[in-house]
Amino acid sequence: METYEEHYDSMVKAIKRYMPGANMALIDKAVQYADAKHEFQKRKDGSPYIIHPLAVAEIVAEMGLDTDAILGALLHDCIEDTDASHDDIAKLFNPTVAELVEGVTKLTQVDFTSQEEKQMENLRKMFMAMSKDIRVVLIKIADRLHNMRTMQYQTPKKQIIKCRETMDIYAPLAHRLGMQKMKWELEDLSLQYLHPEDYRELTSYLQEHKDDAEAFMNTIQFTIKERLSQMGITNTCYGRIKHIYSIYRKMQAQGKSLEEMYDLYAFRVIVDSIPDCYNVLGHIHDLFNLVPGRFKDYISTPKPNMYQSLHTTVIGKQGIPFEVQIRTWEMHETAEYGIAAHWKYKQKAGAGEEKDFEWVRRLLEGQQDTDAEDYVHSLKIDMFDDEVFVFTPKGRIVGLPAGSTPIDFAYAIHSGVGNAMVGAKVNNRIVNIDSKLRNGDIVEVLTSKSSRGPSRDWLTICKSNQARTKIKQWFKRERREENIDHGKSSFEAEMRRNNLPLSITSDPEMSPQLLKKLAFTCWDDVYAAIGYGGLTSIKAVGKIRDDINRSIKLQSQEQVSGMPLKLSHEDDPAKRNRHAVNGVIVEDIESCMIKFSRCCTPVPGDSIVGFITRGYGVSIHRSDCPNAASRHNPREAPRWVPVRWATAEDQPFETTLELECVTRDGLLLDVASTMTTSRIRVKELAGKDLPNGHSVFTIRFEVKNVAELNSIRTKLSNIRDVISTKRGQN
Ligand code: MN
Repeated sequence: METYEEHYDSMVKAIKRYMPGANMALIDKAVQYADAKHEFQKRKDGSPYIIHPLAVAEIVAEMGLDTDAILGALLHDCIEDTDASHDDIAKLFNPTVAELVEGVTKLTQVDFTSQEEKQMENLRKMFMAMSKDIRVVLIKIADRLHNMRTMQYQTPKKQIIKCRETMDIYAPLAHRLGMQKMKWELEDLSLQYLHPEDYRELTSYLQEHKDDAEAFMNTIQFTIKERLSQMGITNTCYGRIKHIYSIYRKMQAQGKSLEEMYDLYAFRVIVDSIPDCYNVLGHIHDLFNLVPGRFKDYISTPKPNMYQSLHTTVIGKQGIPFEVQIRTWEMHETAEYGIAAHWKYKQKAGAGEEKDFEWVRRLLEGQQDTDAEDYVHSLKIDMFDDEVFVFTPKGRIVGLPAGSTPIDFAYAIHSGVGNAMVGAKVNNRIVNIDSKLRNGDIVEVLTSKSSRGPSRDWLTICKSNQARTKIKQWFKRERREENIDHGKSSFEAEMRRNNLPLSITSDPEMSPQLLKKLAFTCWDDVYAAIGYGGLTSIKAVGKIRDDINRSIKLQSQEQVSGMPLKLSHEDDPAKRNRHAVNGVIVEDIESCMIKFSRCCTPVPGDSIVGFITRGYGVSIHRSDCPNAASRHNPREAPRWVPVRWATAEDQPFETTLELECVTRDGLLLDVASTMTTSRIRVKELAGKDLPNGHSVFTIRFEVKNVAELNSIRTKLSNIRDVISTKRGQN
């Protein structure tokens, strides 16, 4: 029977080893409190209950956790099993310890043997607790480890249930958290109960060959140590037989017997620096024969759970292959204790509390819609495989979809960070912004105020929807060119409506004054604001209208007093533009209604003439329109007036084309798609069959000018079976 004293001493030793100044008075207070509370409880083997909390606290101390965690471990069963309450513990110790104990209590109440749906609910609780404080999970794993170590006192039925649970939940969890040592022990202990025959066979084989194994390991260890000390490389080297479950699993997977098992032995060389790791590797390959294809560099490419080491398999004179793992002390610490080692490191760095395991919470949220069975399945198999967890330089954990890049990371921090991103560092090294992030990476985004915003190909590089959405938003908001174009035409239309000269915006004297009035520094900004919707063109023009009119008045007065009035209005922008209506200037007529004739549908670039209609203003015809021929008739001539296209107009003009073609299936489709691919807005497309096996299509559409019209005309005439294209002439 184990004794209280043994366990107490061994726990104190474990604490003193890494925390010489630990508050032992407080720890003793917790031991006494727990002992008193569990007074009437016994372990299954009849020993005092306090042995269990002491053992759990010792495991927690081995992980290197802080005093609160040790207190939590000592008190972990108090709320569950005794009349102690959260408040009692908070008052006697502190609220953090009370929270830890409560968290462990919740996990203890999780019943994994129940139905899947209920299990789901419990697993959620478990993760909830975990997301609050990772120490809760670490204490719970320590608790499970000690229970597994004392499993022999449980009933066979309970043994199976607990061991399954350990294999399904706790060992994978320890693995994901990088706690190799815990994982191995949990697996070996479970195997012992789940497959007792196999376990016995394996252990007895290893026991039989124990002396040979030890002699072999000593020889190898001696050879390595001798070489390394000759070379002046400070090292710790030891051999071990690989853990039983890993041998068992390999035998199962490869269908091999124990005698056929390849590498049972693993040697570990721990050194002070990364360069030494590679030095040692060189010496190992020099001392023994390399087994090809077995070298793995987990230093440059760490495993997802942060594991780092060099692995190589070699064969010595004895003909027995063995694996050598080479690592630094820091890597060793991480390999043994995983997340706990990281946590400890952060404590040292004073990076604050570990309250930010929000990824677990989000993992949980993300799973809420999927059904329970799927969830349990994914927890068992790929606990965190869909996501990658990285750190900010301040130690905050950021969860991203697997395959994420620094771009995703930047947008997860803040859209402002993403938009200003110019580069990234991962683990303090500059990387490409499209490089894939790995678990445990410390990612730093390099930003610049002069960044020109995200690039379009980021949309294809990034992995998270969040980043993609934010980049798209940026383009929507920042698509300046388009906004400027749009805003400019709206502004100019409003200027025309007010009969104001557009050229005023490039007038060196007036322009700065007007911009000042509008509170912008350049016209593009004004247009962009209008295009984006931050300013209406009516408001903008309204603000500057009076100033422009005043200046025009002033200018014409100067002209009157200074020199004779120009007869031509050509050089006077105000006058010249006053005539422009619908993009057409009617010479010598102040302002009039303009319409484009339906018979010849002129577009900018066409030579045109105007006809003064009775009551409908001026009708514009192409000069070659048959109807315009009447201008040569002396009786009609006075009603024909010269007109011209106003320059720099971009508004669409409607026109028609008539296509004569050989009738065939799909021709209409060809015509329509030619129009679409040329980005021509078709207003009407009608076809009629002619008696001679031909068809005529009439297309009414909009173009900006005759050049565009000619281009589409060429494209249409290139369609198979199109015989002719004619400008519409009704
Ligand atoms: Mn317990």
